[in-house]
Amino acid sequence: MKEISISTGPLQRKYGDEKALKIAKAAGFDAVDFNLEGYGMTDDCIYHASEDAFGTYFTSLKKKAEELGIRIGQTHGRCGTFAPEKDRCDFVRFVTERDLKATMYLGSPACVIHSISTMSWGIVPPEVMREENQKMFSEFIPLAEEYRVKISQETFGDAVADGVRVLDFFGDVHELKAQHEQLETSWKTLCMDTGHVNKATAFGIMPAEEAIRLLGKDITLTHLHDNNTFSDQHLPPKMGGTINWGNVFDAFDEIGYSGTYNFELALDYFGDTLEDAVIFLGKYLRKFVDGRGIV
Ligand SMILES: [Zn+2]
Repeated sequence: MKEISISTGPLQRKYGDEKALKIAKAAGFDAVDFNLEGYGMTDDCIYHASEDAFGTYFTSLKKKAEELGIRIGQTHGRCGTFAPEKDRCDFVRFVTERDLKATMYLGSPACVIHSISTMSWGIVPPEVMREENQKMFSEFIPLAEEYRVKISQETFGDAVADGVRVLDFFGDVHELKAQHEQLETSWKTLCMDTGHVNKATAFGIMPAEEAIRLLGKDITLTHLHDNNTFSDQHLPPKMGGTINWGNVFDAFDEIGYSGTYNFELALDYFGDTLEDAVIFLGKYLRKFVDGRGIV
């Protein structure tokens, strides 16, 4: 049986870290994608505390997950990464060091960090995007190696540049693949984000199943969600999105994907019924995965 997992960002924001793990377990998920993006934003945050307090906090969360019997299969680091502004880069440097170390303390094998985006850089020559992205990840590699956690880029979709919706530079799956291959470390992996690729199809990019075949065995993590190709809806599968999930499961089988099926959903929409919604989604997504797209 394939393992299922859920991205817990909205649960963490509403209920706190421990309760988020408890709810995910109660809902029947085998693992979680633990979100770190809420950390580092304020001075009183644990990211700014002493090294001891920082380590103790995340080690105790790891213990909590072990007691509950749920795995922290991946973490989510920063979405907004290096930009032309130096202040932004300095902030990302600080929090990403913390994100990778927290990932180590949580006992998780990998942290997803977004590539640089057309959203921040605008339309610039392709060489600039390629070089700046390599530069950024090259700074993170020594940390990934020291903390023994993999850094993972994820597939991208569209972006708004100068008020116009365009393909994000790394929404081109070939560009993402080339970036991944150029990183000089074995502490790297890739996260397949089905929803992002689905949005990129509006710009002629291959559908999710073909992207899975192209990236192949380098994919060990997933952000599964659906949309109408126009906006990043993060919908549960088969609830109004256009992804052909049967084809997606076939492609994962073809590449021998053995990771968890992790769902990254816009859970905030459920408001005060969030806990109940996640309990329902646990059942729904288990059936969906076992039925290879048929519920
Ligand atoms: Zn994602």
